[in-house]
Amino acid sequence: MDDDSIPYGRHEVDADDLAAVAAVLQGDWLTTGPAVERFERAFAEFVGADHAVAVSSGTAALHLAMLAGGIGPGDEVIVPALTFAATANCVRYVGGTVVFADIDGHTLTVDPDHVASLITPRTRAIVAVDYAGLPADLTALRTMADRHGLLFVEDGCHALGAWCDGRRVGSVADLTCFSFHPVKHITTAEGGMITTANPEMAALLRTLRNHGIPTDHRARERAGVWEYDMTALGYNYRLSDLQCALGFSQLAKLPAWLARRATLAARYDEAFAEDPRVFRQSAATGRTHAHHLYTLRVAGREPADMRAAVFHALRQRGVRVNVHYRPVYLHSYYQALGYRAGLCPVTEHAYAGLLSLPMWHGLRDVQQAQVIDRVRDALTSVLHAGV
Ligand SMILES: *Cc1c(COP(=O)(O)O)cnc(C)c1O
Repeated sequence: MDDDSIPYGRHEVDADDLAAVAAVLQGDWLTTGPAVERFERAFAEFVGADHAVAVSSGTAALHLAMLAGGIGPGDEVIVPALTFAATANCVRYVGGTVVFADIDGHTLTVDPDHVASLITPRTRAIVAVDYAGLPADLTALRTMADRHGLLFVEDGCHALGAWCDGRRVGSVADLTCFSFHPVKHITTAEGGMITTANPEMAALLRTLRNHGIPTDHRARERAGVWEYDMTALGYNYRLSDLQCALGFSQLAKLPAWLARRATLAARYDEAFAEDPRVFRQSAATGRTHAHHLYTLRVAGREPADMRAAVFHALRQRGVRVNVHYRPVYLHSYYQALGYRAGLCPVTEHAYAGLLSLPMWHGLRDVQQAQVIDRVRDALTSVLHAGV
C-alpha cells in the first residue's frame, strides 16, 4: 500500500484536542473526573436527550443497553442482518436469541414490515441500525415497539448528528448507542455513549459501567466515606477523563464536520447519479443522513464477482475501499448456531454489490476527485475484462 493511498475513513486530531487531553493528564483525575460529566452533558444536549452515559466502546454501550433493558435467556431480539457483528453479539452476551430482519433494498435500513412479521410472544426488543448514517424508519419502529410493549434500542454508531422526522438520532429510541472508534464521526480512540430519556435506566447504566456500584470513587471522596455497596453484577466499562476531554473537544467541531461530509456525499451523488453501473443508497423522506459511510452497489447479474474485481482494481489504484457488511448470520459463529444462508435475501443481494468509498471530514477535494476518476476507471476496466 503506497503512502498516499486514500483510506475509506479516518480521524482528525488537532492542536485543541491535544491541549484538552494534556490538561487532563496534568490534573487530579485521569479517569471518572469532571471531564466525563462535561462530555456527557454536552453530548446529551447535542442529540436532544435527557441523559447520556459514557462507556468504554460502542460494543459496551450495546451490551449495557441489553442489560438495562432486562434482556435475558429465552428473549428474542430482532436485529437487522446488514450491520456490524456487535449489534447482534450484544444479544448473545445476555443469553438472548437473535432474530435477523431483512432490509429495504433501497434505503438499506431495516424493513419495518419484515420486523412486524417476526414479532412473537417471546419478542422483547427491536434493535434498529442507521446504516451508513441514514436513520432507520424510527417513527414506524417506535410505534411498533410501543404497540407491542417492546424495548426499542437503536444502534446509532453510524448516525451521530442525523435526524428523523424532526428528531435527532439519540432522542427517539428507549436507548441509543454510539461509538467513538477512530472511523466514526468523533473519536475518543475507543469509546461509546448511551442516551436515554429514562432516569432509572440512566442510573442503572451508570451503576453497570462501574462494576455494579452506584457511587464512584470521586463521589465517595467528596462525601468523605469509604463504604460502597455493589447492587448488581456490573463491569468496568468506564470511559476515562482523558478520553472524555478528547470527545468534548471533538464534539465542538462536529457541526462543521457533518457539513463537510454532506458536501462530499453530494459530490459523489452527482458523479454517480447517471452511472448505470452502480446504485446509490436511496434517500428517505423526513430522514437526514449523517454520512458516516458513502456506499455504492455494483450493478449487474453477478454483482459479487464484479464487486470483487472493482475492489481489487481500486486497491491497486491506491483507493482503500471497504465492504460494510457481510450479513451477520453468515459469520461462522452464527452459522454454528444454525442460521442459514438465504435467511434475509434482500440483505444478501445488497451485500453482493456493496462497496464503501472514502468518506471522512478531512477528505480533500482533490482526493475525492481522484477517487471518482479511479472508481469510473476501475468499473470500465472490469467491464472490459468481461467479469
Ligand atoms: C462501530 C460500530 C459498533 C461498535 O463500536 P465499537 O466502539 O467499535 O465497539 C457497533 N455497531 C456499529 C453499527 C458500528 O458501526
